[in-house]
Amino acid sequence: MGLAVYIHIPFCERKCNYCDFPSYPAAAYDIDAYLRALELELLRRSSDVRKSISSLFVGGGTPSILQESQLTVLFGMVQANFGLEPDAEVSIEANPGSCSAGKFALLRELGVNRLSLGVQSLQSDLLRRLGRCHTPAEAIEAVHLARDAGFDNINLDFIAGVPGQDLAAWQATLQTALELQPEHLSLYGLSIEPNTPFGSQWADGCLEVPDDEAQATMLEWSQHFLAEQGYGHYEISNYALPGKACRHNQVYWRNLPYLGFGAGAASYWQEQRSTNLARVEEYVAAVNLGVVPVAEKEHLSVELQMAETLFLGLRLLAGVEKRDFARRFNLNIDDVYGEKIKVLQNKGLLEDSGKVVKLSKRGILLANEVFCEFLP
Ligand code: SF4
Repeated sequence: MGLAVYIHIPFCERKCNYCDFPSYPAAAYDIDAYLRALELELLRRSSDVRKSISSLFVGGGTPSILQESQLTVLFGMVQANFGLEPDAEVSIEANPGSCSAGKFALLRELGVNRLSLGVQSLQSDLLRRLGRCHTPAEAIEAVHLARDAGFDNINLDFIAGVPGQDLAAWQATLQTALELQPEHLSLYGLSIEPNTPFGSQWADGCLEVPDDEAQATMLEWSQHFLAEQGYGHYEISNYALPGKACRHNQVYWRNLPYLGFGAGAASYWQEQRSTNLARVEEYVAAVNLGVVPVAEKEHLSVELQMAETLFLGLRLLAGVEKRDFARRFNLNIDDVYGEKIKVLQNKGLLEDSGKVVKLSKRGILLANEVFCEFLP
């Protein structure tokens, strides 16, 4: 199997009200300097890894904010340092406000075959509330432009539980989205994070969001609706038409190795998890000084690797195959977690067929409760 590589482009037009990802306003940064640092990081780390890439994910931030010349430079450096396998999955994230026919055509030429669009809602008032930089019409236009450029693997991201959203609004958004025939949908419940405008409003008691039950009702409705429309629910938040599940993200959920490049990017490699410096200035300065731009590094004990393999694997609705676990760790999953599995089974949160352990329907809605049980 080839490499799974993630590249982080930490720039956005402006910060959305709910976002705590490492992303910064593009206008305040020298993006060319960032790309030069990224190239140096790729050059240094690729020399130890003699493999080509089987899945590449360029995420952010907003990678589509890069100019066409910068996108060409970015994909050129990936090819020069690693190379892509002929059937590699190559994904890029884009936001509707920064898309154009020219950019999409170029991305196709550069080998991108999967597009993930951050749509979030198809209702103007909710997009404004989220602080997004685009309108519903621009989101729909972006999908049409991507189709015209030849993209036949498009993911649309949506958020449930936005302030002011009710079930009818959520249903209308998903119904309109399906008219665009996306191959893949990612549906996330809004989470209020500290250090965001929503976090401050929440702390001040002036943010009203649909409660947990209302959010769960929206997501549960989506499960039935999307199943009727032929989408497989393959991960807690992800749905795909047959054959269109995201290969790259499955590397994370199967707890397999990957390399991450750029400010704030994480890697899981040779039993170590590391995270790069998140602040762009610090990342660029470290790379330019020849210093490894890592902020945190942790060696994962076998105990932690087993726990992560289990709770990440349980995110996949197919669950964790006991045979795979035994092959990987040389230990029987029931000898390690048998009691915990039984308790969660009795609570109706897990199903155990003897060969596979997976979340039950109720467990999908209360997944965090399940995952906490397996933390060492
Ligand atoms: S576009 Fe995405 S990464 Fe950028 S600020 Fe908004 S949510 Fe965060």
